[in-house]
Amino acid sequence: MRSLLEDAGPGDLDLWARTINPQFVRVLRTIGFDRPWVRAEGAHLYDADGVRYLDMLGGFGMYNVGRNNPRVRDALVQALGLDTPGMLAMGVTALPGLLAERLLALAPPRLERCLFTSTGTEAVEAALKLGRAATRRARVISTDHAFHGLTLGALSANGNAEFTDRFGPLLPGFERVPFGDLDALEAELRREDVAVFIVEPIQGKGVNLPPAGYLEGAQALCRRYGTLLCVDEVQTGFGRTGTMFAFEHWGLEPDLVPVSKSLSGGYVPVGALLMSTAVHEAVFDSMEHAVSHGSTFAPNELGMVAGLATLQELEDEQLVERSARLGARLLELTTPFVDELDVVRDVRGLGLMWAIEFQGDGMAYRMLERAQRGLFAQLVVVPLFTDHHILTQVAGHKIAVLKVLPPLMLSGSDLDEFVGALRETIESAQHMPRSLTKFALTAARAR
Ligand code: PLP
Repeated sequence: MRSLLEDAGPGDLDLWARTINPQFVRVLRTIGFDRPWVRAEGAHLYDADGVRYLDMLGGFGMYNVGRNNPRVRDALVQALGLDTPGMLAMGVTALPGLLAERLLALAPPRLERCLFTSTGTEAVEAALKLGRAATRRARVISTDHAFHGLTLGALSANGNAEFTDRFGPLLPGFERVPFGDLDALEAELRREDVAVFIVEPIQGKGVNLPPAGYLEGAQALCRRYGTLLCVDEVQTGFGRTGTMFAFEHWGLEPDLVPVSKSLSGGYVPVGALLMSTAVHEAVFDSMEHAVSHGSTFAPNELGMVAGLATLQELEDEQLVERSARLGARLLELTTPFVDELDVVRDVRGLGLMWAIEFQGDGMAYRMLERAQRGLFAQLVVVPLFTDHHILTQVAGHKIAVLKVLPPLMLSGSDLDEFVGALRETIESAQHMPRSLTKFALTAARAR
């Protein structure tokens, strides 16, 4: 493998375009993200010229313990050398039970069973399927702008047309209510035919925080009308928001909790659905139904090892507390942008899940937003990357939002570097030189 990689050199964009996805390569080239990546460590990526980039995106939030975490890697290397039995299909091995026990110990007492998956979307699928079977109800309510994954069940709960258009018809029985609107939710739940209400505690798309009382109110309504509450922690789990799970901020006790992303330490795909005994026993209610849901590679042993080592690392390095501390500092440093910089409409976040939203009334801003809603954020994301070597993302739906999900182990000076570069970039972008506007419009048209 070493010689294969040495011969291949950094990622070959032409090969990717020929064999995997030419449109994605076009996007990378248009926005200047087509760097020849060769190495990563912690919160940094390195290109073939040895240039160091600060990773504020964290692989869409899967590198909470940092890229190539040496302790997680060592655990995996050790496990590979142990000739463990692997997946038995008809039998049990040691590691899944140990990880399940560890995960459940972190969760509220209501969550007592764990079903492993390989990805986040699969954990969501399991929540939807098991929720339907356990309640003997068919309907699923989700929220506008929700993101729960892209397989067909999870997609049916998705609240963004850009993901759902062209893939219909989606599954029957799925409906959405506005995020934050308890009256709309009650109007649906009152019919007493809703199996599951699925909600992200903080919406990933746009980093929308719940209004005060919303999640607690939603839980009370679910209990009143016999609906299972599914809090999707795929993105917000494992310290991202400054607590182990985001639902702890509101003292929730959900019935179903899908997790994934950073449970893998970024190494091996792994996910899980944590659930109440009541749900589990309603579905897996006899020997005949003992294997009613599952998949071949879940639980795979390397995934279990990565999960155990990642949880240990979060604890040893106190990364959850660090996320809370650095997140508070990030908000403190950037909230003044709202008053100081004309184009900044809002700054929001919890822990190290953070976003800045832009606004504008100038002619150039309006022109950009007419070409593509949210495009102004690209005018910040691109120079942050090309001039300051900081990786971020645009993450809004019809609004201009820049979002970050950095590794939780980033340093205080990494954070200061980001804040300084962000301010400088926004100040330049708000004057919007013609060349930048032209670039952004070209990027929008190249879609
Ligand atoms: N749920 C949430 C809240 C997510 O943010 C994501 C992915 O971004 C998923 C589910 C899907 O996870 P995966 O990409 O592992 O399928």
